[in-house]
Amino acid sequence: MTDLLDFLTERDDHTRSWKRSDPLHAVIRPTAGDTFEVKLPDGEFHQVRLQRDHGAWTGTCDCKGFEYNDGPCAHLCALRRAHWTAEHLPSDPAGRDIYGTHVHVPAVEDDQHAQPEARADGGHDVVEHVERPADLRTEPRWTGR
Ligand SMILES: [Zn+2]
Repeated sequence: MTDLLDFLTERDDHTRSWKRSDPLHAVIRPTAGDTFEVKLPDGEFHQVRLQRDHGAWTGTCDCKGFEYNDGPCAHLCALRRAHWTAEHLPSDPAGRDIYGTHVHVPAVEDDQHAQPEARADGGHDVVEHVERPADLRTEPRWTGR
């Protein structure tokens, strides 16, 4: 299960997670789908899942910070910030992953388009008539395999 994440509160409150999460110093390694491995300078790699669901951010992390505190941990913040940087400041290295590729957090609707068989239950939980966000880009590495 994934939690709804409130990144704005982290940013506005200058929380410890937010301060630790400078994406320039984070090592981000995409694995599959919405899963990334994220390492901050003073820590280990953690398995982070993050996705966008029609503008809302949901995700989890396997670190203790996420388990014991409210709100997104530093790894989730770093991933969120790297995604933002890649979109808005394409030349900024903070927006790139370990392979030098722009960090792209997939949107839930990407998955549905890529895997129509996932809706074999009739898609009753799919919200219809929702406009695709203007910033939604499909990248072959997310949808092609
Ligand atoms: Zn974490």
